[in-house]
Amino acid sequence: MRYEWESMNRSRCRMAMVTTGIFYACIIACFVAADQRSYDGYEVWRAEPRTMKDVEFLKDLGFTTEIDYWSEPTTPGKPVDILIHPDKERTLRSTLETERIPFHTYIDNVQQLILEQMRRKIEAKNSRELRSILDFDYRVYHDYDEVMEWMNTITMEFPNNVTMEQIAVTYEGRPMYVLKFLGGGDVDKPVIFIDSLIHCREWITTASLLYIFKEMMTNPLYKHMLEDANWYFVPMINIDGYVETWTNDRLWRKTKSTGSSSLCTGVDANRNWDSYWSVSGSSNDPCSNLYHGPTPESEPVIRHLARYVLSLGKIDGYLSTHSYSQYILYPYNYANITTPDYELQDSVGEKMKNAIYAVYGTEYTNGLGATVLYEFSGTTSDWTYDKAGVKLSYTIELRDTGEYGFLLPPEQIIPTGEEYLAALEVFKNELTTL
Ligand SMILES: [Zn+2]
Repeated sequence: MRYEWESMNRSRCRMAMVTTGIFYACIIACFVAADQRSYDGYEVWRAEPRTMKDVEFLKDLGFTTEIDYWSEPTTPGKPVDILIHPDKERTLRSTLETERIPFHTYIDNVQQLILEQMRRKIEAKNSRELRSILDFDYRVYHDYDEVMEWMNTITMEFPNNVTMEQIAVTYEGRPMYVLKFLGGGDVDKPVIFIDSLIHCREWITTASLLYIFKEMMTNPLYKHMLEDANWYFVPMINIDGYVETWTNDRLWRKTKSTGSSSLCTGVDANRNWDSYWSVSGSSNDPCSNLYHGPTPESEPVIRHLARYVLSLGKIDGYLSTHSYSQYILYPYNYANITTPDYELQDSVGEKMKNAIYAVYGTEYTNGLGATVLYEFSGTTSDWTYDKAGVKLSYTIELRDTGEYGFLLPPEQIIPTGEEYLAALEVFKNELTTL
């Protein structure tokens, strides 16, 4: 659904006037790209599968249709959030009613939340030139160019500690970089690798990590983070998709590659790793949001990131950052099987969970990926554990638990970052004492 500039402007202004006032509403509407897909009329429903049969039914629906699960079917009793296209509402309603799966509207105006996410962006626009990472506004989300500017600024500001290296070129030809935060000194310091935005609509992942690395570099309280460990950070994996979320479709999840025989674009990059590829929780339908791709590592960003990780030789901890659901997940994801390092993974995960809780009382769940979530294969942390030998490999699902989902308000960027930073502090401390 695409809108002409004028009619889009009018309808957005009219809708937003009711809630946020004429001034901001119109400015926000004008700020959002003219050909952005509109989510007017879209809702998020929360379904509540009560039996394994309900869960299996919903899973099959996800593999065989273009349904967009915001949170996946996992086990009976755990809610499932579904983005509802207005044209498909009636069909899905009758499907769920026929299957006797209870559901209710959880977010009733998706487009309004998209506009709200941009609200603070207006205030930040035309702000001062970026001379230091302290000039950056961490209370708003930033697009690809702005994140690149932050990356260039931090490398220029801390030339002795921070370097940037290109490690891949995306399908659409954009460079992908890793930032290295090396404190110098002891060569045996633990190496921690962090990534974000493998799923490009999960904006909070990069936003919170830019805040965290700013704190690590500028706040004396966190000086020990760089002194005690070497950090590798890939701020944007699915860069093409990230650009898509800012210019065309805020809720795009997959990469932007196009298969030769398919009408549908993109691969779920977190089903594309060469680790139990296509075994579970992924789809061979190119139109599914869970499409694992034509081959393992078909996506250039995954292929090259994998090579780069292997080239480092020794990584002690790997955190792949996602949202939402507030989970700390360790391998395996592909099946309900624990690794030989299960006890260590669980105890470090538990400590990170407690550190997060201590900040604002936010509750995360720590556990085996396949159990806490569901069985899904071709994922980062299974690969880093098995193929790169990183014992402490985790998937971190940041805030929230569905109130805003992927459209987390910008006011929550810093609190989410503070919590994740507390977890990273504990993670680093644990690795230092191993
Ligand atoms: Zn994700």
